[in-house]
Amino acid sequence: MSRKVAPVLVWFRLDLRLDDNPALQRALQSGKPVIPVYVRSPEDEKPWAAGAASNWWLHHSLRRLDGRLRERGLRLVRRSGPAESVIGGLVDETGADSVYWNRRYEPALVGRDARIKKALQARGIDIKSHNGLLLFEPHAVKNKSGRPFQVFTPFWKHCCQRETTAPVSPPRGRWTAPVEWPRSENVDDWALLPEIDWAAAFPAVWLPGEEGARQRLEAFLDGPVREYGNGRNFPGREGVSRLSPHLHFGEISARRVRSAVLESGAAERSKAARQSVDSFLGEIGWREFAHHLLYHFPDTTDKPLKGEFTRFPWRNDRRALRAWRKGRTGYPFVDAGMRQLWRTGWLHNRARMVVGSFLVKDLLIAWQEGARWFWDTLVDADLASNTLGWQWVGGCGADAAPYFRVFNPVLQGRKFDPRGDYVREWVPELAKVPDKWIHGPWEAPAGVLADAGVALGKDYPHPIVDHKSARQRALRAYQRLKGG
Ligand SMILES: Cc1cc2nc3c(=O)[nH]c(=O)nc-3n(C[C@H](O)[C@H](O)[C@H](O)COP(=O)(O)OP(=O)(O)OC[C@H]3O[C@@H](n4cnc5c(N)ncnc54)[C@H](O)[C@@H]3O)c2cc1C
Repeated sequence: MSRKVAPVLVWFRLDLRLDDNPALQRALQSGKPVIPVYVRSPEDEKPWAAGAASNWWLHHSLRRLDGRLRERGLRLVRRSGPAESVIGGLVDETGADSVYWNRRYEPALVGRDARIKKALQARGIDIKSHNGLLLFEPHAVKNKSGRPFQVFTPFWKHCCQRETTAPVSPPRGRWTAPVEWPRSENVDDWALLPEIDWAAAFPAVWLPGEEGARQRLEAFLDGPVREYGNGRNFPGREGVSRLSPHLHFGEISARRVRSAVLESGAAERSKAARQSVDSFLGEIGWREFAHHLLYHFPDTTDKPLKGEFTRFPWRNDRRALRAWRKGRTGYPFVDAGMRQLWRTGWLHNRARMVVGSFLVKDLLIAWQEGARWFWDTLVDADLASNTLGWQWVGGCGADAAPYFRVFNPVLQGRKFDPRGDYVREWVPELAKVPDKWIHGPWEAPAGVLADAGVALGKDYPHPIVDHKSARQRALRAYQRLKGG
């Protein structure tokens, strides 16, 4: 390749993949040398700096992406600093005449990207941005009055009537590299891995990167997808895809997931299987809805969408918050969820709803506290989905569960973990408690607990609140809010 051909920079962000990556695809089609870049920028860190679990994932995902690019003759150039000066500097260093990227929709980044685009265009650089993250971009979807949707069902119905683009596979073989590679920082120097070995169990559960995403999708298509409609409710079973961190980091595209599910033929097997496929695609729809809401209501990361909830009389109870975080509330189903989160960086959606409801309603602690803890500990922490999830739990968001509907953590456990498998896995001190008492050990006769080797208050905590009275307290607080 002649030195005279100006290269194109592909700025990787939440699209750490080669497959179905429109910005990369366009760069490859240009025939020019391609320089893939990842920028660790301070703007990404504000005001929601990536949490510890996300950083663990990012470290491994960047290494894998670099490995995959090297198989094609390219590599990932890593730089840190404000994105505008890093990208501008790389344009100067390499003589690139084009910069391509896939769009992001977080409030702080939309403005930043627009500024970078303007500044580079003013220098005569060709800028192209693409949709690599979603099926339906937030600015392109409006209701009949031309306004953003605030209720999921009409939103998704509207989306399902629209065309979607098919995923694209990258060209085979080796790709055109620049004559000289710009300097790259070492990802190890970014200190993304935690200093304590809290993430020690993660590698047994997760394989960050495109290959891990592909394996998860295949495992899901191999069976669980056909029973997803029902199976998705039971945290102790392998009923869900666990694709969320891969989707968050863009190691697989929503387009690829959607088309693989539709092409798998799963829906043709039975009526139940068809409903399961619809239900799964509906969850992908919730991800779309989350981005739609965040884009149109950017304050919702910190403020309730329903304004009256800013006056909600939350309690400041550090001791209870600590017990919740550590999975020591005395409610086994809640504690199983919180411990699964701590140990694996992920928890099942049913458990997210139950632990969230417990924090916000039984403990009367503000949903923002829960959102911050999830943000730090989830490998799939996603500003759009986390915000939607917590506003839903708190009863204060778009299409949220009404605040007065309070999950009963014991009944939820009995219904969705009837044999206590989930609790036994994550709360092993209760492993020998019989099924009948596993979700409410304080109700068990003393002899039963003694036989199971459990002394409440010593081996496992007494419940930190009485659910019945806590529910009444939450409803009173809600009534005061409505009345005042
Ligand atoms: C309080 C709370 C906080 C949450 N925080 C996050 C978060 O930070 N990141 C995140 O990805 N999801 C979040 N969710 C949504 C949901 O719990 C997870 O996406 C899901 O559990 C991930 O597991 P999975 O990949 O096996 O999902 P599956 O059931 O296999 O669903 C497939 C995909 O659909 C999307 N999806 C499923 N349910 C939802 C939903 N309710 N909202 C938005 N997208 C959804 C995810 O991308 C998921 O990977 C949160 C939910 C709650 C109640």
